[in-house]
Amino acid sequence: MKQFKAESKKLLDLVVNSIYTNREIFLRELISNASDAIDKRKFLSLTDASLDTDFCIELKPDKATRTLTVIDNGIGMSEKELENNLGVIAASGTERFQKENGKEKVEGLIGKFGVGFYSAFMVADKVTVTSRKIGENTAHVWTSDGTSGFEITDGELLSAGTTVVLHLKEDGDENYSVYLDPNHLKTLVKKYSDYIRYPIRMLLPKKAEGVDKGEVYELTDLNSMIPVWKKRKNELGESELDDFYMHTYHDFTPPVLTIQTHIEGAVEYTALLYVPSEPAFDYYTKDYKRGLSLYCNGVLVMDVCAELVPEYLGFVRGVTDTPDLALNISRETLQHDRRLRTIATGLEKKILSELEKVKNNDREKYEKFFGAFGKALKFGAYENYGTNKDKLKDLLLYYSDAKKKLVTLKEYCEGLKEGEAITYACGETIEKITMLPQLEALRADGRDVLFFTEPVDEFIARMLGEYDGHKFENVASGKASGQANTDGHETLLKRIEEKLKGKVTVEATDKLKSYPVCLAAKGEVSLEMERIMSAMGGVVKADRVLQVNLNHPAISALETADDATFTDAVTVLYNEALLAEGYKTEPEFLSALNRIIVSGISSGVRADEKPVVKKKTAAKSSAKSTKKPQNGDSENKTE
Ligand code: ADP
Repeated sequence: MKQFKAESKKLLDLVVNSIYTNREIFLRELISNASDAIDKRKFLSLTDASLDTDFCIELKPDKATRTLTVIDNGIGMSEKELENNLGVIAASGTERFQKENGKEKVEGLIGKFGVGFYSAFMVADKVTVTSRKIGENTAHVWTSDGTSGFEITDGELLSAGTTVVLHLKEDGDENYSVYLDPNHLKTLVKKYSDYIRYPIRMLLPKKAEGVDKGEVYELTDLNSMIPVWKKRKNELGESELDDFYMHTYHDFTPPVLTIQTHIEGAVEYTALLYVPSEPAFDYYTKDYKRGLSLYCNGVLVMDVCAELVPEYLGFVRGVTDTPDLALNISRETLQHDRRLRTIATGLEKKILSELEKVKNNDREKYEKFFGAFGKALKFGAYENYGTNKDKLKDLLLYYSDAKKKLVTLKEYCEGLKEGEAITYACGETIEKITMLPQLEALRADGRDVLFFTEPVDEFIARMLGEYDGHKFENVASGKASGQANTDGHETLLKRIEEKLKGKVTVEATDKLKSYPVCLAAKGEVSLEMERIMSAMGGVVKADRVLQVNLNHPAISALETADDATFTDAVTVLYNEALLAEGYKTEPEFLSALNRIIVSGISSGVRADEKPVVKKKTAAKSSAKSTKKPQNGDSENKTE
């Protein structure tokens, strides 16, 4: 007896005992495996007619032996495949699964890791799988009780295919005998597997014009075999499209958007497309296979055909069916097929226009979508030198400082006067950008600012250059501020610059209110871009500027500071600007800050936002002091 892997065992236990409360779906899982196996054989039969046969799946309930058997004449499994496919469960997923061991998570993961076959153990305490691979003369039998391990022995099967025998559990809390009842099985097939493209058959009493012929049975087709994407609206059961999606793509959440389209143009095709509510768990890894299933008149030609959707729409899943492609076309030829490209272009347009509709008609839904896949659209707008930017620019959303919600560029621009720039601020999160000093004056002027939280955002802005005649401008570019009047302060600015030599240049700004300084960048490279480039190992440097608010008391106070205090204060101010931009501070910052604190406290004057009061006055100001001067001498000094 071969043992299941340790982690597999745990997972198995979960599947069987707690995950699927809905035990009856085991039948759907087994039928779906059978159908996949037939798909594979059918595909091979396109080029090797000897493999063609009357493809079907048969169900055989047997009360006498308390077994339910599912038989297919698909591709079959070799001995090795029986061991590998059925012996190791969720091999790739177990580690992840253990990390995210919440029930909710597990539910999602189980489906994704393909433990479909193991759902058989929800209803059976023993399962035997007899399989013969096409092209082989021998069959093998895989047997397991679903807990300890499995055995593989030699067996017999007249022709290629797979036979799965479920030895049903004894009735107890659950009634397992229902899976021996032909009528119940028929209902389950209708409910879950109606769209399966091959006949699912079962022996049922023959019906003939109202006369019950008693003992005469015949193999009866249980399913309509119409693929979901070929069904008309009135033929579709409630939630049938969602169910098809969830089952096919192992997702426990219904899709955000379902798109059906049928085109009869130069190329005829039908498509059923889905936008998931969340990225697939492996979406951002190289394991994720982007593309749609390609069918030719209901026959699967390619499981995932990447050429059918552009890269930036890689999250879209679904099916395309066309009568216009030759069935036995090779994959290589297919990739360059003009008809395929026509379909792809049509689908891209369709998906974008459907997204546009959702954006206009159901903003909440669109925001949900955008939260999941906005990044993908943004990369789409940026990649390939912006080839797709015009198609995508109106689908992008950005957080608006004034409206406190996501807006489109168009909506933002509606609030602009002619010639006014689209002002944006970059940062890691909305919270962090909200606190940027640079925004104060703009807010006071009633100007709105877009928040760019994604590294790619600013690159897109550069790529677009402008929107509706409005240029993009970074609040930290220096351009976004009017030039402040520096009259009489030139020496001070020079002095500050002298202290910060090699780090920044210094200029006055009028875009700050309660902050004394902020960091900005002159020229083409913004601070954000510098950050992104350096994260990618680049050496592009921004031309850094320390912008100074000459109206701020902290700056006015510098005018009269002695050189040591001046040096400390400039260090503190510069580091304050670094901090506000999310940079690390310099090593000398803390000691400089401490000295400033000490002299601040011993001066006894509480600064607040008001200019430093140089005269000793009023009870008012001393009432404001949090601490009385120790000996009054610093107070005297300021007089
Ligand atoms: P999934 O179907 O999600 O891959 P399963 O646990 O249901 O996961 O099946 C594991 C694998 O076993 C399948 O991918 C397939 O290769 C093989 N398999 C299962 N059932 C059959 C069958 N009836 N015929 C041929 N191969 C099968």
